[in-house]
Amino acid sequence: MLIGPRWAVPGEDVLEAPISGGMARIRDILADRLDGTVVAVYGRHAIASGRQGEGVVMSNDEEFMGLALEEARRAAAEGEVPIGAVVVLDGRVIGRGNNRPIGAVDPTAHAEILALREAAGRIANYRLPGAVLYVTVEPCPMCCGAALQARLARVVYGAPDPKAGAARSLYRLLEDSRLNHEAPVTGGVRSAECAALLTEFFRARR
Ligand code: ZN
Repeated sequence: MLIGPRWAVPGEDVLEAPISGGMARIRDILADRLDGTVVAVYGRHAIASGRQGEGVVMSNDEEFMGLALEEARRAAAEGEVPIGAVVVLDGRVIGRGNNRPIGAVDPTAHAEILALREAAGRIANYRLPGAVLYVTVEPCPMCCGAALQARLARVVYGAPDPKAGAARSLYRLLEDSRLNHEAPVTGGVRSAECAALLTEFFRARR
């Protein structure tokens, strides 16, 4: 009998996992249902390294995601959930951010927000037309909102986030024609590496 925590999964409303099965069992069940590999399970939250790679992958996407991964490692070193982001304009990095809401005592101190803030300061413009945001995990509603405010040209993320992702998983905030700006999305770039950082982080904390 399946009872227990409910998991939001792309393409499905709800996935139920047995509460008594332990993390390994839950991981297997989720992996089956996600058609991918579940690499992090914590609390009521699962991160999959799977496909969800819609959108066009550009030639430098993997390289810039590597820089976002560096930022994510920096977050982990500071005891924060390892998520990193960079903002790129005309092939140059103009903003970097590592997730640090705990250290900053700031609920908005997500990697994306910090990277956008630095980028805007760098070019002295609160709009960042033509810029691309790279982030290791699918952005939340707040960060998608910030990306739209910045008028970004594109958003590229690594691992999908079935529990908070607002680019594909739960909402498609970046590509909603009812809003006054749209930013095409590419997901799943180096997703296994991005998700592995989370796995290691949460495993070490358990
Ligand atoms: Zn966010």
